[in-house]
Amino acid sequence: MTAMMLDNDRVVDFVTHLQENKPVYAPHAKGRSSFVFDQVEKPDDVVLDYPRTLHSIKKFFLPPQDDLLDFNLVENSFTEPELKPFDAVFLGVHSYDLHAVMRLDYVYSQGNPERNYLARRQGAVFVGVSFTPDKHHFSGSVGIGTNDTTGFDVFLHIVDDGYAVEALTEAGTDLLQGFDMPVYEGALPASAHFEQHIYVPQGKLLDVFDHGYHSVVWSDEAAHCTGCGTCNLICPTCSCFNVEDHVDVTVTHGTRTRSWDSCMLRGFGEVAGGEVFRENLADRQRHRVYRKFKYISDETGEPWCVGCGRCTMNCTAGISIVNIVNRLVNEYDKSRAAV
Ligand code: SF4
Ligand code: SF4
Repeated sequence: MTAMMLDNDRVVDFVTHLQENKPVYAPHAKGRSSFVFDQVEKPDDVVLDYPRTLHSIKKFFLPPQDDLLDFNLVENSFTEPELKPFDAVFLGVHSYDLHAVMRLDYVYSQGNPERNYLARRQGAVFVGVSFTPDKHHFSGSVGIGTNDTTGFDVFLHIVDDGYAVEALTEAGTDLLQGFDMPVYEGALPASAHFEQHIYVPQGKLLDVFDHGYHSVVWSDEAAHCTGCGTCNLICPTCSCFNVEDHVDVTVTHGTRTRSWDSCMLRGFGEVAGGEVFRENLADRQRHRVYRKFKYISDETGEPWCVGCGRCTMNCTAGISIVNIVNRLVNEYDKSRAAV
């Protein structure tokens, strides 16, 4: 497919063009070194060359807190809120974050499909951009390169002086209609090099996790972990939530609310009677990492970690998921050598 050339000095015009179709959400600088996805008010506030946003675009389809229904205890009835599709353009999304959305699509379509999430997902158009990996990115180790266009409608490849723009779907072609760009003459760039990586091919990860359940790694890492839950709350593929009923003081009506939850918090494993089935941090740490590389992966054949690096970067105790996996890989290799 022919790519077009978007020069750096036309990016603001490009964003303005996109806004003529639908609301546009894109990365913005926040403070000295943070970036957040937000609705674009001023096109020149958009930042396309950024390492990662604090939260992924998951927050738009699965808000941190969400009302599921209002109930009436007198009439024994309930109403569900009207849900609208998120009919918007998401500009400047990195490949690993769209892979995370595709994993959430899978999770929330299984069993009882998750109505709120799936309704919001309709209508979204994704314009990706390649990125330069920093010391925390490792998506290359889970099969997601910096220029992976999977799932995107349009993709912007960083090239000298601007972007090579590829339209990948009909919706993407429609989006570019009316914005003239010259043909990009060069070859599309390959994925950039990752400094950080897991020392085993993706296909062998399941074997490593088959072997690592009783490893000493879990208690070693738990010795530093504070159980704060940050790693879950900023993870683009974490999908667990808590549901609470808030009843009005008149005890006649109330609201059922869903909020993000974290398997690293003690209360996550607490059941009726006060029993906590993952009382110690080693068990919680193992559960978190097995959710990323084993439990759902056994079903789908894909890692459920997309290598964004957010959990490592934001861990209050300096715990690195890559380090954990590489320690398991070392133990696995040693056990094979001893056979
Ligand atoms: S962010 Fe770090 S310290 Fe906090 S629960 Fe996760 S691994 Fe433990
Ligand atoms: S486990 Fe960590 S590196 Fe993997 S997707 Fe979640 S936040 Fe990103």
